[in-house]
Amino acid sequence: MSEATLADWMIPLLRCPLHPEQALSGSDVAALHCPQCAQAFPLASNGDGQTIADLRALGQPSSHAVTFHYPMNILDNARIAALGRATRAEFDAPQTWALRKVYASKLHKEILYYIEQFRRDFPSDAPILDLGCGGGGNADYLAAQGLTHVLRGDFDPAARAHLLLDAHRLPFADASFDAILTTAVIEHLQNPFLAFYEMSRVLKPGGRIIATGSFWESWHGGSCFHFTPEGLHQLCQHAGLALDDIWSGWGFIPAVMRHALRVPHSWRPFTYRLQSAYDWWLTRRQGVSAPHWHRMKTSGSFGVHAIKPQE
Ligand SMILES: [Zn+2]
Repeated sequence: MSEATLADWMIPLLRCPLHPEQALSGSDVAALHCPQCAQAFPLASNGDGQTIADLRALGQPSSHAVTFHYPMNILDNARIAALGRATRAEFDAPQTWALRKVYASKLHKEILYYIEQFRRDFPSDAPILDLGCGGGGNADYLAAQGLTHVLRGDFDPAARAHLLLDAHRLPFADASFDAILTTAVIEHLQNPFLAFYEMSRVLKPGGRIIATGSFWESWHGGSCFHFTPEGLHQLCQHAGLALDDIWSGWGFIPAVMRHALRVPHSWRPFTYRLQSAYDWWLTRRQGVSAPHWHRMKTSGSFGVHAIKPQE
């Protein structure tokens, strides 16, 4: 079994999940340990059959203080109307099902739009965390865009991860990454407030997060909290992230057809076309902004783009 190689740039970012202020010692995966707990981390085998470090600290409790300030702002109609900017943008992206075929991951136009914006605004070696990397499709897409420094982390040992981690106690130093990409993961977190706090902590000032989560499909694979646009806004607000955009990942027609009516996977392109036809019909009847409002109220999933403010 080969040992997964942690690139030189990754090692200094690593911290103990139980002592986030504590840098890890050891220069290779097997030797990584926390000087404070005086413990080595268990090794695991990842989806590529490589030996990786397990930084989840399974079975080792930690307590977290999260501060909530009230009253919170909620999005008013003017702000809701301004969302979906990436959806309206002239941006030539492959269709969602075509992306799925190539990358086997949940990429879509709006995610690609913000990745492209990131690529324009940051150097190609800006560190990116692929959180909940799964089969590695998102990382493959980032690499195809010329982004060279992507750290793949996942809770699931079957994933093609550089290391195993828990999003509620990320094993990274403060201000480690310029971007975090996490798709179809956040509904599986037991405490999304804490996870957004952690993501905000490990982002550099000016860093960006692109996150998508399910609203429909009430339960799948242990999913806990499913997201509304306002819910995503609240998570960002609590975590000190400036909301930039929220969009509908897929409309109610693909959601209902796939999850309630259980049409086969091979029908997916058809369900998306039907949604487009419905949006077109809505536009004709009620005007150009009607599909946006309808999607905000009925979408199967939502995505968010937020920015960590400069200090
Ligand atoms: Zn420790």
